[in-house]
Order: sequence, then structure tokens, then C-alpha cells
Amino acid sequence: MLRMRLSVKQKIAAVVLAVSAPALVTAPALAQPMGLPNIGAASGSDLSPALERALGDLIIASGRRDPTYVHDAEINQYLNDMAKRLSRYAVSHAVHVDVFGVLDPRFNAFALPGGYIGINTGLIVQADSESEVAGVMAHEIAHVTQRHIARGLTQQKQSEMIALASVAAALLAALAGGVNVASGIAAFGQAAAIDQQLGYSRDAEREADRVGFHMLSKAGYDPNGLQEMFAKLMNSAQFNMAGSGGNAYFSTHPLSIERMTDMQNRTQLLDNNRFPSSDAFWYVRARALVLQTVERHDVTRIIDKLQDEGRRLKGAQRSAAWLALSELASQRRQYVDAKRFLDYARQGVKDSPYIERQAAALALAQDNAASALSIARSALTRWPNHRALAEIQARALQKLGRHAEAAKFLEQQIKKWPSESPVLYQLLAVNLADSKQPAQARRAMADYYVLTGALPSAMAQLQQAREMTQDFHEQSRIDAQIRSLQARMAQEKSVLEKFSS
Ligand SMILES: [Zn+2]
Repeated sequence: MLRMRLSVKQKIAAVVLAVSAPALVTAPALAQPMGLPNIGAASGSDLSPALERALGDLIIASGRRDPTYVHDAEINQYLNDMAKRLSRYAVSHAVHVDVFGVLDPRFNAFALPGGYIGINTGLIVQADSESEVAGVMAHEIAHVTQRHIARGLTQQKQSEMIALASVAAALLAALAGGVNVASGIAAFGQAAAIDQQLGYSRDAEREADRVGFHMLSKAGYDPNGLQEMFAKLMNSAQFNMAGSGGNAYFSTHPLSIERMTDMQNRTQLLDNNRFPSSDAFWYVRARALVLQTVERHDVTRIIDKLQDEGRRLKGAQRSAAWLALSELASQRRQYVDAKRFLDYARQGVKDSPYIERQAAALALAQDNAASALSIARSALTRWPNHRALAEIQARALQKLGRHAEAAKFLEQQIKKWPSESPVLYQLLAVNLADSKQPAQARRAMADYYVLTGALPSAMAQLQQAREMTQDFHEQSRIDAQIRSLQARMAQEKSVLEKFSS
């Protein structure tokens, strides 16, 4: 559960609970999900999956434009693959789960309405094994599959609901505000002001622990992952800061902490031999560290730590440390060091798409697009599902001025990942603009904005495209898109109005 810097979850949960407005309850197509107890209409917990999803979509659309939202393909792909593996063992299979990274060095994770789960980069960095991350994620997925928000299993108070309604009002303002997304971001930020604990009820937490534990063990992770994470952090300095607001996760999960006390003295709970972490885990963990290090004042300390790990550790863990150092050096334009660290990263490990991605990115950073293309292309043949490689290949083609080839390649990738990677549409738009197809470029940009939830911006792009084209069929297609977008915006507006009133 949550409370990231933006405290989105709190806002959301409150907003969701406020939905108990009679108008929503009587709306058609809002059937109560089967198999879950209804807390009763009088308690205002009748939130249909469709409505919950609509609200979640709106909140995440605002969140995607927040600077803390992680757009990195490797982190998001890794987290979503993990979520898929866990959700396969969820009791209710139809549930939508979409995980995103949050750029924040603190330990936290949270579930929003509609199945959106945020995982802080700090949580990944502080984990010592894949099962620890999976443990927290399983717990959050359980909040989703058990529909704890919709069932009203939170400790919300009236005052918080009012505060949350203001979030909906801010989202509404953003929706009306055209291309200006600043107010949408403010809506996210406002949640931080709601500093009271919303938290799920104790029953909900117990259920999430139980259901999460089941998923975790069935999916082949160490079933003690969540406990280990808690036990370790309990002894850390960060935990001691919990009282002063240092740790949101602990303040929202006191019950889990209580359960953990008997494990305090167990130094090594996890059986790392029986449940080894994947190589991908170590590379993604290093990537998360790089992302959250970029603007930190303690870069030097982190570099020292990584160099120590690179010398001391073995296998993928060691390789990941050198890869992170290579990325940090590349960002500082220290390309000779970056290349040297990359060579260290290759030693003593299996070939990896993560290493090839850095090799291609490094070539691209040095304006060697031909080399970047050749590395990315051959790596993508070996690991066709590694999206970061596809993004680099497209950028390299574009830099080389091979627009037709880039467009064809991007269209193939978009077919493969129609909604996972807005950046593919953005790259396509740039490519079409460069090859003098302005109307098509605007349509691709509109797709990008739709995926990122910036509907007014999408509308503006479509209207410009409509004016540019003389082709009748093309005009009809754009008109149809405009109508469907208008309908969606009207629907969003009405959802928000219900929440904010
Ligand atoms: Zn929880």
C-alpha cells in the first residue's frame, strides 16, 4: 500500500470511497463483482470494477506525467513480467494488474484503484533478492485481486474524503486545461498534503498477506520473501526513522511488522540456494540505482560502493555493479571509463540483453549510430522481447536518416507492444515528421498522448491532422477517432465530477 512521495494511493482510495454517490450505484453496467462480500450499499462501498478502473486510469494518466513516474522499458517490463508470473496464481484471474516504477529512493509500494501498482526504485535497490521484491508485489497484487479499495476495507475518515475530492477536482481542471499538464501534476502532488494514514483495515492486511503468500510460493519464489524484507528493514536505520515519516510502507503496514517481530533474530531467513535470483533481477536493481542516482548529491559515494561490489561480488551481481558504473560514466560523458566498465561487466557472466542494451546505448551516446544499430539489431534477434533494445534500434535508424526503414520497424514493434510503450509512438511521430508526412506524424503523436492519458493534447493533434489532409478516407478515419476521443473525455469528466462533488 502506499503513500509515495505523492501519496497517490491515499488520494485515490479516498476518492474511490467517496464514490458511494447514489447516482453511481444505480448506473447500469456497474454490477457487483461475484464472489466478494458486499459491505453494503449504505456503507458506500459499491464501486464496480469498471468504475474503479476508470478512476484508476485517470489517476495514472496524471501520474505518467509526473517526474517520478519511471518510463524505463527495462524496469517496467521486469516488474510487469513478475506481476504476470504472480497473478497467474491469483484466485480471480480476470483482474487487471499494471505495475510501474516510481523514482524515489525510499522503501515503498502501493496499489491504486484499477489494479495499478507502484513500486519505488528504492524498494528494488534495497532488496537483497528477487523474492523480496516479489513478496511485496504479491502483497500489493492481493490488495487488487481482493478488491480491498472497492470493498471499502480502509480506515478512511470523512476529512480525508474531502481532501481526496479535491484531487478529483484538480484532475478535472487538468482535463479541461488542454495541453497544460501542470494542474494534473498538482493533483498528484496534492495527495502529499493528505498526510493522515488512510491504510487498509487490519482484516484487509491479513488477507493480503495470506493471499500474497500463496501466490508467492506457487509462482516459485521463496515464500518467505515478504517476511525477509520486513525482518531486514526492521533492523535498519530506515526503519528507526519510521516514526518521523521516514518510511511510508511501515507506517501503513504495522500489522505485518508485528508479525515479523518473532523473526527479528533470524539472520538468514531466505534460502538463496533454493531460490536464486535471476540475472535480470541484479541488472534491473542496478538500473534502478542508476536512475535514482542521477540527481543525487551523493553520486561519489554510490560510485565507491558500486566499485567495491564490482570487486567483491561474483556472477551477475558483480556484472550489474560494473554495468551501473558504465551507465553513470556515460551520463557524465566519460566514455573511455564507460567502455572499460562495460568490458568488466561482460566478464564471467552469460550473455545478457541488459549488457547489450548498454553497449548499444553507449555507442549511440557517442554518435556512433551505425554501431548502435548493429549491436541492437543482433541483440534483438536473440532477445526479441527486450523492449529497450527495440527503442535503441529505432533511435539509431532515425539518427542514420533511414526514415522509411525506421517507420516500418516501429510499426512492427507497435504491433507487438500496442499499449506498453508510448515512446514507440513518439519515435514514429518524429520519424514521420522528418520524412515530410506531417498529418501522419500528428496522428502518431495523438496515439502517444492517448496512451499517456493526455487526452486534450491528443485531440489537438487530431484536429491539426484533420486540417492537413485532403484525402477523404483519411479524413473519415480521423473524424471517427475524434468522435471516440470526445466520448471518452466526456465519460472521464463525468467520473471526476462524481468524485469531486
Ligand atoms: Zn498492504
